[in-house]
Order: sequence, then C-alpha cells, then structure tokens
Amino acid sequence: MRRLAIILTAIFLMLVVIYFLVFKPEKYQEKDLYDSILERGVIKVGINTDAKPFGFFDEHWNVQGYDADLARYIAQYILKSPNAVEFHPVTPANRMMKVSTGEVDIVIATMTITPQRLEIIDFSIPYDAAGLAMLVRSNSRITSIADLAGQNIGVVFGTTAEKNMLNLAPTANIIGFRNYRTAYQALKAGKIDALTSDDTILSRFVFEDKSVKLLPKRYTREPYGIAFRKGKTTKKLRENINFAIKDMQNKNVMLRLRRKWLQI
Ligand code: GLU
Repeated sequence: MRRLAIILTAIFLMLVVIYFLVFKPEKYQEKDLYDSILERGVIKVGINTDAKPFGFFDEHWNVQGYDADLARYIAQYILKSPNAVEFHPVTPANRMMKVSTGEVDIVIATMTITPQRLEIIDFSIPYDAAGLAMLVRSNSRITSIADLAGQNIGVVFGTTAEKNMLNLAPTANIIGFRNYRTAYQALKAGKIDALTSDDTILSRFVFEDKSVKLLPKRYTREPYGIAFRKGKTTKKLRENINFAIKDMQNKNVMLRLRRKWLQI
C-alpha cells in the first residue's frame, strides 16, 4: 500500500513537472522587462553625467543633454510621459555591469556597439555615430597618431578609446582616467600630451576653450546604441525601442536632437 502511494506521488510530481515544461503557464514564464517597466510606470536609464552635450547635470542638478532627451522621447513612447524616466549616473567602466545586473533597465550613454560588447549585452539599432579623435593643446606639435611614440595619452577607463589606442599607438604611454573632467584637467596641466575619445564628446572642450584643439583625423567609426541586459527577457523592450528609434528618425526627431545639442 505504502509502495503504491509512493509510486502515485512520484507519477503525480512527474506530471506536474511535464506540465510546466511543456505548457509553460503564462504566470510562470519569465516576464519581459518591457512589461515590468509598464507595471512600474517608470524606466530606469543609466546615463553619463560627465559627457556634455550627451549627459550632464544642469545648475539645478537635472540631467540634460542629447542622451537625456532621447531617454525622455523613449519614455513618451513606452509610458506616454517624457517624465517617466529615472536617471542613474553610470561611467564607461561600470555601465555594462549595471545593465546586466538589472540596476538600470537600459543605458543611453554614447555607447559604441562593438562585437566584444555584444557578447555580454544587447544593443538597439544605432541612433547616432561618432569617430575616435584626438584633443591636444593648441600649441602642441602632435599632428596625428604617428607622433605619439613615447607620449602620454589620456583615455577614460572602459571606453573604446582605451582599447583602440593600445592597438593604434602601441609605443605611447596610455594613461587611464575615471572621467572626462579629470582627463581634460590633466591635458591642460601638461600631465598628458593628448586625450583620445569620440569627436562628439571632445568637441565640447574646443567650443568652450581655445587653448585646446581637435585634430582633423578620425581613427574609428563608433555607432551609438542603447544597451540592454542580454537575452530573451529584454526582447520585447528592444523591439519597442528599435521601433521608437526608427520612428524618431523618420520624423526627424534625431536630426532635431543633433541640431539642438551638437550644433550640426
Ligand atoms: N563611445 C565610446 C565608448 O563607447 C566612448 C563613450 C563614453 O565615454 O561614454 O566607449
């Protein structure tokens, strides 16, 4: 009798397991982040706050810039309000970790889509693009990457520039900084001879300060994408955001953002 009870219990448990494996009742399916955002009513966006004109604090400590405006457009699409955004400052060095662990839903932070990053996270379609450039002091004798042997070159940790400069200028001393502000101060103080990053980010220093100049050559192409946690649970969110980007491109919203923030 006891044996029969054990066998029946085992069969029952097996049937339960098979039911969940085969039919995957909706309640137990892994929810898409898109649905969680709708339920929560706010989207958590990781953003640079040190990369004017893409992401920076204004005098009231509100996050502003091209990427911030893009986040507000996306909130309008998904949640029908441009204010349904919670900004979380990220740095180039920690943004992949923050989006992978779910601390933020997406990252909009001048982030280049690269094959290496695609192994760890997912990206939207490109919403803009930049090129790797070099910022030097106006009186510098450096004219191109060929002049960098033995020179001190600043990069921000976690950026594509950090990785690319090791290949492009193997005989230079590559010096890492936590953010653009400290890297720029080091350039002004003569501690580094050039600062390398995206032309879109470096241009702002030239607008504000004639003692530095941007060299004309671009060494890479940097398509910008919105970053997501990798995998199935962000598929619907990615599709919706890709749709929003295409719609913004068709309606010239992206062009207006470029004109407003990049003066082009
Ligand atoms: N686009 C470059 C990158 O993704 C630099 C951007 C940044 O400093 O945030 O690494």
